[in-house]
Amino acid sequence: MTQPKRALVIGAGFGGLALAIRLQAGGYQTTLLEKRDKPGGRAYVYEDKGFTFDAGPTVITDPSALEELFTLADRRLSDYVELLPVTPFYRLCWEDAPAFDYVNDQESLDRQIAERNPKDVEGYRRFLDYSKAVFEEGYRKLGAVPFLSFRDMLSAGPQLARLQAWRSVYSMVSKFIEDPHLRQAFSFHSLLVGGNPFATSSIYTLIHALERQWGVWFPKGGTGALVQGMVKLFEDLGGRLELNAEVARIETEGDRVSGVTLGDGRHFPTDTLASNADVMHTYAKLLGEHTRGAGQAKSLSRKRFSMSLFVIYFGLDKPSQGLEHHTVCFGPRYKELIDEIFNAETLADDFSLYLHSPCVTDPSLAPEGCSAHYVLAPVPHLGKAKIDWETQGPIYRDRILDYLERHYIPGLREHLVTCRHFTPLDFREELNAHLGSAFSLEPILTQSAWFRPHNRDAKIGNLYMVGAGTHPGAGVPGVIGSAKATAGLMLERLNDGTPQ
Ligand SMILES: Cc1cc2nc3c(=O)[nH]c(=O)nc-3n(C[C@H](O)[C@H](O)[C@H](O)COP(=O)(O)OP(=O)(O)OC[C@H]3O[C@@H](n4cnc5c(N)ncnc54)[C@H](O)[C@@H]3O)c2cc1C
Repeated sequence: MTQPKRALVIGAGFGGLALAIRLQAGGYQTTLLEKRDKPGGRAYVYEDKGFTFDAGPTVITDPSALEELFTLADRRLSDYVELLPVTPFYRLCWEDAPAFDYVNDQESLDRQIAERNPKDVEGYRRFLDYSKAVFEEGYRKLGAVPFLSFRDMLSAGPQLARLQAWRSVYSMVSKFIEDPHLRQAFSFHSLLVGGNPFATSSIYTLIHALERQWGVWFPKGGTGALVQGMVKLFEDLGGRLELNAEVARIETEGDRVSGVTLGDGRHFPTDTLASNADVMHTYAKLLGEHTRGAGQAKSLSRKRFSMSLFVIYFGLDKPSQGLEHHTVCFGPRYKELIDEIFNAETLADDFSLYLHSPCVTDPSLAPEGCSAHYVLAPVPHLGKAKIDWETQGPIYRDRILDYLERHYIPGLREHLVTCRHFTPLDFREELNAHLGSAFSLEPILTQSAWFRPHNRDAKIGNLYMVGAGTHPGAGVPGVIGSAKATAGLMLERLNDGTPQ
């Protein structure tokens, strides 16, 4: 009897997990190697004094992409994890204007928009039509297609030109909408995948249509419960997950991957390999001894990487009164602050924050009568600003908590029972993220699709990429889409018998 072909996946982030499920379901005997003691990557989970804190993604969109992973394995998502609807999608707050509840109800949106600027009601409708058109082209048609040749890029050219993809998100929103706060409300989304709204292609306005199409969801038990559901599916299918398994080196024979060696000396041979680890880490460190690794690392070092984040996870011995599940707290400056986050060498004095209060949807994430939260501030990555986070971290944490106490959570300090923070240094050390970037390569047009590191390496034929650093890019729907694109390539070889 012939042995099944073996596949290794480095990294158990959402992209690695989704790919491992597809490979295992498709016939590869798949092993997933994860550096940390828990799966999830950026979706790690901290547990502290009875509180559960999701470390990263909290806005779950496009449940159909998740469902697809379970259906291809003849299972149902709902047997593994329950998704709860979240409404409003976000509450958007400013210091100098009333809050805006971004909901999936046209009447309520129209009313709130009209209160700010009646002309923008019609403008918003035209913006939504534009966003839907981009969603059809950019997400439905191209989101899970690997761009391996420039020809693929050229064939997408006419649509990109028609949709004016060279314009930025903000400039496109401003074409339709006049009110300055509404311009922020409909342009901040690209920040959720590491894109500067003033520089990122207007293609990223598709996030708006995607949310309107399928809603915003939260897994019961937290995002970690979705990660656990995916791990269970992978293991139910016969896949193997190794935790505390940091890969130190990808082994090659000529231009083929033959296996990997872990930091603890263990060796795993393989027929084919995909890396969900940071693209720069993969090429520079894991493949650094091969000329291909060194060459790719040099070319990646000239690219622009997304900003980092500073995140505070905190538990209060009181409920989340007066808060919604997702709150965006815009500071006094928008464009200037974003410019500084992406380009300045210092930390700005003001900030814009995202506040996560999941107990609004699922009180089980904190002890009775208590509430779990996290707050994040986008900050420059380590290649831009030389900030000593060891000393600046606690100071910055205190400034943010003071601000929250003043504007959003009265009595925060008095009710604080647990608190920890995660800095750009942690992104670098814990997740091997180049420059501590939270979202890998910045999603600008010249670093998207064919211009992004490819889902299959051009020289080493059995080496693949999956996750935020490859096409289509960061965000949960993005990396789940990247797994589909990469799995398609890997399974094609398995099924047509081409050498791995
Ligand atoms: C704070 C935060 C909030 C976010 N919020 C949202 C949101 O609400 N909605 C949304 O859609 N997106 C959100 N994102 C973005 C989204 O979380 C990420 O784009 C996505 O999860 C990245 O997945 P990935 O597959 O690229 O892998 P990652 O999550 O980056 O995982 C990679 C894995 O590889 C492992 N690894 C690295 N090196 C090695 C090695 N040498 N050996 C073995 N393993 C290794 C790492 O430990 C890690 O587990 C957020 C991101 C952050 C940081």
